[in-house]
Amino acid sequence: MSILGHALIGGVSVKGNGATFSAFDPAKQELIEPVITMVDEVQIDQACRLAGAAFDYFRSISNQQRATFLETIAEEILALGDTLIVRAMAESGLPRPRLEGERGRTVGQLKLFADLLREGSWLDLRIDSPLPDRQPPRPELRQRRIALGPVAVFAASNFPLAFSVAGGDTASAFAAGCPVIVKAHSAHPGTSELVGQAIVRAVERCQLPSGVFALITGSGNGIGQALVRHPSIKAVGFTGSRQGGVALMAVAAARPEPIPVYAEMSSINPLMLLPNAMANRATAIAQGFAASLTMGVGQFCTNPGLVLALDDKHLAQFAHVAVTALSDVPAATMLTAGIASSYSCGVTALAEHADVVTLLQTSNAACKGGSALFITNGATFLEKHELRNEVFGPAALLVACRDSAEMLAIIESLEGQLTATIQMDPADLALAQQLLPALERKVGRILVNGFPTGVEVSSAMMHGGPYPATSDGRSSSVGTAAIERFLRPVCYQNFPTELLPPTMRDGNLSHGN
Ligand code: NAP
Repeated sequence: MSILGHALIGGVSVKGNGATFSAFDPAKQELIEPVITMVDEVQIDQACRLAGAAFDYFRSISNQQRATFLETIAEEILALGDTLIVRAMAESGLPRPRLEGERGRTVGQLKLFADLLREGSWLDLRIDSPLPDRQPPRPELRQRRIALGPVAVFAASNFPLAFSVAGGDTASAFAAGCPVIVKAHSAHPGTSELVGQAIVRAVERCQLPSGVFALITGSGNGIGQALVRHPSIKAVGFTGSRQGGVALMAVAAARPEPIPVYAEMSSINPLMLLPNAMANRATAIAQGFAASLTMGVGQFCTNPGLVLALDDKHLAQFAHVAVTALSDVPAATMLTAGIASSYSCGVTALAEHADVVTLLQTSNAACKGGSALFITNGATFLEKHELRNEVFGPAALLVACRDSAEMLAIIESLEGQLTATIQMDPADLALAQQLLPALERKVGRILVNGFPTGVEVSSAMMHGGPYPATSDGRSSSVGTAAIERFLRPVCYQNFPTELLPPTMRDGNLSHGN
């Protein structure tokens, strides 16, 4: 359980052949030992070949065996104990309770997919019985879904555990039967190595081929792009910046064999504050909004960065209460120096914008993010497209709309979003119904009278949305639906029973094997 600064390839710890870099403690502003060695293209090739070689075996083990593998990973992560939490705190600046909660979520996700595997419906088995007397006769047709192949997972900076080495992308890809190669995020390489070691131990305990999992280390675009270009890789899971996601989509599309990229990128998660709700409870909504905006120093993909309301005295009250509540939240350490610097630039751009009024701007010194609140009017927002850029951190823009028609026009003008939230009272129903069709077209998850941060991991959750919220709005990266990204249907026509995969034979059909 010691961190060596190595990659994990073929079930063993491997010193990278490339350059080195260091992990960084954003709270103490100092480098963390040991230095991390970066893999080179030969090592990436080795990891990908091993994954390709392990694929047919791994996808053909029983659902029960794969479920046990996921549960074993969960056990091994818990066995890392406080070592994991302490290292993750140092590398991310996130507080202990948040990371302990995130570890619980990570373990819970693995168990959720284990339950899904045992239940079996994910195979989506379909049978058309033969119709020999029909003209033309119909053959027997059976369909199931199989794993796509080895998946490249890009760990997210903002969830060092739950969206990282053993996070939702990895858990869902393993559940589908895909070997996984994780590109560790350079912000938390030690945390990644510890979790990677836990997966390697689970691979050993379950007697799976070592190629089922690899962790590759490095900083810079070359490593991730070489991984996505490798012919053994058949799909990509990514959480990060729009720029990074779009770059990887281009690499994947330019391959001789293009592959799907499931990238979760940028979203400003609009809040619509409807008039009756504002008249009755503007203060409470403002307090809830401020808590949501500052949760985790605003470093959530579902952070509410845009607020739309009618331009009246209730919005003025909302703004006043929100500024007071936000002022009470001290600036806190952000995940990386790069994220803190991008946040600072985003806040400065809004503060210096000629058509935007600053309601609150706090200092962002020494890798810390303080909250910020701005206001503009609907006409300006519609005209100035730079106002809808994601500012990753605890900053939001209020938009004072002339009337509900302008609110609707703004929603129509937005890019795809992960979430949208309606704050409404019963008397707002007609307006909410009017906004809903546009919201459904733009958004993956629509909430009423809540706040978008905090994503339930369950079967009905949708964490995705039209571009650029994600690269493919048909899929979710959270919850059991995430497995669908790594499956494809295969039809078996006129097969003798003995040739059918066991899961497709009569008698096994209801629960797989
Ligand atoms: P990022 O810069 O996109 O990095 C994510 C991962 O992709 C890292 O492993 C990175 O490698 C790699 N990568 C980035 N650009 C690449 C490229 N062109 N080619 C190949 N690989 C590439 O994201 P981040 O570091 O997490 O944060 C930067 C910004 O992303 C934030 O300020 C925020 O705006 C946004 N973000 C959004 C979300 C969201 O859920 N919407 C979540 C996190 C971050 P390295 O390890 O070498 O950097």
